[in-house]
Amino acid sequence: MKEQDVKRFIFFGAHPDDPDVFFGGTAVKLARAGHKVKFVSVTNGNAGHHKMKPDALAARRYGETQEVVRRSGIVEYDVMQNSDTLLENTLANRIAITKLIREFKADVVISHRLCDYHPDHRTTAQLVMDTSFLVRVPLFCPDVPTPDTTPVYAYSYDGFTDPRPIRPDAVVSIDDILDEKMRLLDCHESQFYEWLPWVDFDMPDFSAEGWSWEQRKAHLLKYWGGIWKRAAQLGGVPGMEYAEVFEQSEYGKRLTPEEFKDLFTV
Ligand SMILES: [Zn+2]
Repeated sequence: MKEQDVKRFIFFGAHPDDPDVFFGGTAVKLARAGHKVKFVSVTNGNAGHHKMKPDALAARRYGETQEVVRRSGIVEYDVMQNSDTLLENTLANRIAITKLIREFKADVVISHRLCDYHPDHRTTAQLVMDTSFLVRVPLFCPDVPTPDTTPVYAYSYDGFTDPRPIRPDAVVSIDDILDEKMRLLDCHESQFYEWLPWVDFDMPDFSAEGWSWEQRKAHLLKYWGGIWKRAAQLGGVPGMEYAEVFEQSEYGKRLTPEEFKDLFTV
């Protein structure tokens, strides 16, 4: 790929695993095509377990994110040191996120929508969208240079419908990369094999110990595959089973619908 065609994508998720869930397949495809992809978790995930203590959990989850880097081809997975479930829309966080976008020289910034169910997701969405103008203001955080153009801002899939469902402006099939995407989720052992079965599916005695990769993959698809199936249905592309979808934000640089689609076409 020619240097000028390389695009830089940064995804801000509230927790260590959100970038993988909502952007992981697309991220691997983009990285393989030669684009640069960075994941950021805005909290350290230190409340996402029913047995572990917060500090040990944060350390374990950081290790899980770095395993994602090792397996995926994405260049970085940063974890900000905000406590899980306690994220606040502070000036310090707004500054930190603005600097991350500038330092990475992001062309595309993706995050959650403001109507998401989890307070950390909503706060992350607000923080990220609040940078869309400030990222180009030289006197805001003058120690990090502003980009030449405002990045494109986008939202990743969620299933919420109030005030309206997400608009699938770009639909990326992950059918051809499902195994790789599941291998990213598989890095987050504390979540998909411990905490989430306990909290979301009332499985207090769940254990995947000794399971083969095929069993783990089947478990991941059984309990979370519906997310990408519903995204594919929303995308409405015949024959597509699993997808990740993205909506262009009104904030940031505006592209034509075709240009926005092209960004995610690899
Ligand atoms: Zn989350």
